[in-house]
Amino acid sequence: MTKVLIHPLVDDGVKPGSADFAGGTLTCLCADRPVTVAVASQVAHNHACGCTKCWKPAGADFSVVAVAPTSTVTVTANGDKLAVVDPSAVIQRHACKVCGVHMHGPVEKEGHPFFGLTFVHPERFVEDGAAEPGFAAFVSSVIEGGVHPDKMAGVRARLRELGLEPYDCLNPPLMDYIATHVAKASGVLPA
Ligand SMILES: [Zn+2]
Ligand SMILES: [Zn+2]
Repeated sequence: MTKVLIHPLVDDGVKPGSADFAGGTLTCLCADRPVTVAVASQVAHNHACGCTKCWKPAGADFSVVAVAPTSTVTVTANGDKLAVVDPSAVIQRHACKVCGVHMHGPVEKEGHPFFGLTFVHPERFVEDGAAEPGFAAFVSSVIEGGVHPDKMAGVRARLRELGLEPYDCLNPPLMDYIATHVAKASGVLPA
């Protein structure tokens, strides 16, 4: 039986982050003039994501992605190499045009539940200690990325073994967060 691979960061077990981590520097994969992005905070909601939009390292079926407040995220070098992958997407994923790594993805649409947050890939931190992934989102979507449907039971079993509970959209806290935002916007809940 072949081993089910999720992502290099978790395939040997999820390594806990450090409570002391207060941010760091993300780098792309370029040896020449790497793009660097400073994040001046710990990350939140770190998770494995199976969607087809998030950047994944070579050979991985999932990305590992988290959020940080946009106000704490600054491009610090070689930002001229960045371009937005899909300007129509809610997440404005800024990718290195040379190596392809998504360096920061702010949500700039006012009124969106995730407005003010930026998506980042903690594996690109030079420093150790970012909060570890805690669940897996959009798991069924890896089929769209090329994983055979027959393999899904094994994928979900492996995610559970790693402590990354698999969900086919986001996890209940984030789904509740989004629904609460919508309910406040419509007046069902007081703002
Ligand atoms: Zn690059
Ligand atoms: Zn994703």
